[in-house]
Amino acid sequence: MVTDAPIDLRSDTVTRPTAAMRAAMAEAEVGDDVFGEDPETAALEQEVADLLGCEAGLFTPSGSMANQLGLRLLVGPGEELVADQQAHVVRAELGAAAVFSGITTRTWASDRGRLVAAAVQEIAEPNAGAYSVSTAAIAVENTHNFGGGTVQPLDEVRAVQSYAREHGIALHLDGARLWNAHVASGTPLPELAAGFDTVSVCLSKGLGAPVGSVLVASRERVDAARIWRKRYGGGMRQTGFLAAAGRFALRHHVDRLADDHANARVLAAALDVDPDTVQTNIVFAEVSDPAAFVARAAERGVVLMQLGPRRIRLVTHLDVSREDAVRAAEVLAALPR
Ligand SMILES: *Cc1c(COP(=O)(O)O)cnc(C)c1O
Repeated sequence: MVTDAPIDLRSDTVTRPTAAMRAAMAEAEVGDDVFGEDPETAALEQEVADLLGCEAGLFTPSGSMANQLGLRLLVGPGEELVADQQAHVVRAELGAAAVFSGITTRTWASDRGRLVAAAVQEIAEPNAGAYSVSTAAIAVENTHNFGGGTVQPLDEVRAVQSYAREHGIALHLDGARLWNAHVASGTPLPELAAGFDTVSVCLSKGLGAPVGSVLVASRERVDAARIWRKRYGGGMRQTGFLAAAGRFALRHHVDRLADDHANARVLAAALDVDPDTVQTNIVFAEVSDPAAFVARAAERGVVLMQLGPRRIRLVTHLDVSREDAVRAAEVLAALPR
């Protein structure tokens, strides 16, 4: 019999604002952000830009919009983006780069999303001439979601960047979980963001804000992205209420991501997952019948997601305490795999 509330491990997007976050939201000073008059949103944008060592930032309703604005600035219609086969921009944004920006995509294969510069260079073709598509940008995802929360090795990132610079190729960083990469690796945020032309970060994943991402880049690019955001219907008015949640999360919910990473390892151990593959807050486990496994776990109060024909995904977050992780681990360890 299940007596406690279900433990939801489907995603770190399921968090709900804490009482303290709600209080910060309620007190936000707001104005019309399309008129550039929302002080809280302007403060959030600058704060994130400063944290990442960039010039300017733009608040967006979703990470997908932040990514798509970045890509639109870097790749022209009929030009090419290269990315990991399992990249969010390729698999989970429903063809937005093609639909909105006329961008074509080619992908490199990887081991759990881990960036290898040689694999990128093998497929990139910056000056393909008049008969082939030229590569205009490379997208890197850090941490890598469908790779299992993989933190990108900095030396490979730097190698991709120097190759890209040499060949006039632009670079986008999908940093939806860059905060996790920062906490897990100890690498300062500006170093993780350095060398990219556009960077997106999510406030509504592990940070626990209800809505929002920020695109950071040069002032010039952010000014251009602001126009495209409006064109996409993403110009919003009193966003200060949402920005306040983001600012609260930046103050209070970054360091604690280490707890999520520790809880992920508790879950991984229960499922005999190689601990070396669990770098942050995402665990992938192989099971013979994922649908049955997910159903059995749900009956016992643990909510998971099937991702692939033999895989389940577990994600730890702000609303999963250590006690929850231990209880979920006990439930999952007892299930037939
Ligand atoms: C969640 C996520 C995004 C953005 O998703 P939205 O649902 O549009 O906010 C982008 N990239 C990665 C890697 C993600 O996990």
